[in-house]
Amino acid sequence: MSNPPHLLGEARLEVVVDDITTLRVDAIVNAANTSLLGGGGVDGAIHRGAGPELLDECRTLGGCETGGAKITKGYRLPAKHVIHAVGPVWNGGARGENELLASCYARAIALCRENNLTSIAFPAISTGVYRFPADRAAQIAVSTTVAALKAAPILRRVIFCCFSKESAALHERVLARFGEPCAD
Ligand code: ADP
Repeated sequence: MSNPPHLLGEARLEVVVDDITTLRVDAIVNAANTSLLGGGGVDGAIHRGAGPELLDECRTLGGCETGGAKITKGYRLPAKHVIHAVGPVWNGGARGENELLASCYARAIALCRENNLTSIAFPAISTGVYRFPADRAAQIAVSTTVAALKAAPILRRVIFCCFSKESAALHERVLARFGEPCAD
């Protein structure tokens, strides 16, 4: 399922309901944990889709701090790369959770700029096992992405790849504030 894309300068931003492991983009983002050695949810799905070589490369990275992101190849995935971003566990909101989640989106977009990647797909980081409130997370995801795109004009396509219609509606509502959907 997908909604019409929104145009922001040269970039198309869209919300889809899909399994992120099926997307053919330059990079899909993984909602990883600090070990970068795999887990459940979207992390497990990405490692299953990429095959064991992904774990081999992740073992060389030395983990990642919360709010950070590291890039690997995509191996057997249709995506060329995986950007492993570590979202915060929600602990009530007074432990820097908002800033740490925003940092995941900003760092992932910075990695696209540094690696000349033109398309990226994000899952709703931290909204599963890490229990970040889905509406607040969607707000942070979209507004941080829109702001970060200004410094990364190389990115032409951004997909918010949601796993439920409810999550997609939350992202679509925030995106609507940044411009009308375009016709095609
Ligand atoms: P976290 O630990 O950061 O909360 P989860 O993987 O538990 O990460 O959940 C993050 C989000 O990813 C949730 O909204 C979940 O529904 C979604 N999700 C799980 N599997 C997939 C998938 N294959 N493709 C896209 N989104 C997924």
